[in-house]
Amino acid sequence: MSEIKAITCPWRKKCGGCTTIGQPYQLTLDTKLKKLNETVRPAAKVDEIVGMEDPYHYRNKVHWCFAMQNNAYNERVHVAGIYAAGTHKVISVSNCLIENEEADAILKDIVQIARKYKMPYFDEDTGLGLLRHVVIRTGHKTGQIMVVLVLSDREMPGKKNFVDLLRKKHPNIETVVINVNDQKTNMVLGERETNAYGRGFIEDELCGKRFRISSRSFYQVNSEMTEKLYGTAIEWANLTGHEKVVDAYCGIGTIGICTADKAKSVIGCELNPDACKDADVNVKRNGLKNVRIVNEDAGRFLSEMADEHEKADVIFLDPPRSGSTEEFLDAAAAVSPGRIIYISCGPESLARDLKYLKKKGYTPRKAKAFDMFPFTDHVETVVLMSRIEGK
Ligand code: SAH
Repeated sequence: MSEIKAITCPWRKKCGGCTTIGQPYQLTLDTKLKKLNETVRPAAKVDEIVGMEDPYHYRNKVHWCFAMQNNAYNERVHVAGIYAAGTHKVISVSNCLIENEEADAILKDIVQIARKYKMPYFDEDTGLGLLRHVVIRTGHKTGQIMVVLVLSDREMPGKKNFVDLLRKKHPNIETVVINVNDQKTNMVLGERETNAYGRGFIEDELCGKRFRISSRSFYQVNSEMTEKLYGTAIEWANLTGHEKVVDAYCGIGTIGICTADKAKSVIGCELNPDACKDADVNVKRNGLKNVRIVNEDAGRFLSEMADEHEKADVIFLDPPRSGSTEEFLDAAAAVSPGRIIYISCGPESLARDLKYLKKKGYTPRKAKAFDMFPFTDHVETVVLMSRIEGK
């Protein structure tokens, strides 16, 4: 770890995404662990933070905005890059230290090709212009690349030439998706999509299993750390092959599918229908007969299980940053698992939910943090809980 070089980023101040870039990596880890404990105590104590061997260029998902903005001379100009933290101002950053390098190269080529074809960037003020965002995802193990062009309109003049040119430069682009976002919104992706090239998804591998990922499904952005995190979560579940497991907020089914060989049965639950479709395919793709995916709100699903007096032996939950709900946590206690494994990217909501679960009779036994997002303020935590004796 001591050999990791501290690198400064010239855009650090303007961008604001990486709050600790330029500092020695070990120092950033120590600070993160300290801050995390300040937030989650007294609900839990996190003993350790696991860092990366190489904490640069880890992001497998890269997003650039394409916009019309005023320059220093008050002229309206095309700008491509990332949002400065907490704003809607786009700044053109080249050679980002945390983004996947090939994705960055593709983005630069997209800027060139868009210029060649005189493709207008979207203007938030007037609602005119075509190109709004580009999202690129790269399979860590497979190297497969997905390019999502977010446009304000379904029609893209010169689409075929655009895609051909891009693929010629980057032959491992597996698919190019056109996503239409014609709304006045902060959301990046719209509802409608067509495939300009390929099948609309890429594949990647985690913990020896194969996963299909489509454009609107969640996939952890740091694959190296995801494998470490899942490894700990699954180890702590202590499965013997006889357990009924719930994987709540399952996304494309990753945690459930990675545990399936060690469990009797797994039910994954997820709200996003696209992620559920991926998860269903992923269950089959990995030849698993003991995993079922349910497309439902996790709280409602678990409450239904509780109402039917169904039990579970292990519950994994991996909710969004806002955390889980009282409905879910009430039901989690009612289905009476031996272990609950909470994976969280939001320390505040984690502290709140752990406190609530304590009232329901479950207490943290172990907690470990993972540096899923080096140099930023974000951190991922896994907590093992079990029932308090006599409750
Ligand atoms: N466990 C997965 C996904 C974690 S991200 C992984 O590691 O990849 C959180 C997931 O919760 C997202 O896929 C999101 O779509 C889903 N989600 C958000 N709110 C939900 C709800 N109320 N019920 C079920 N799933 C929900």
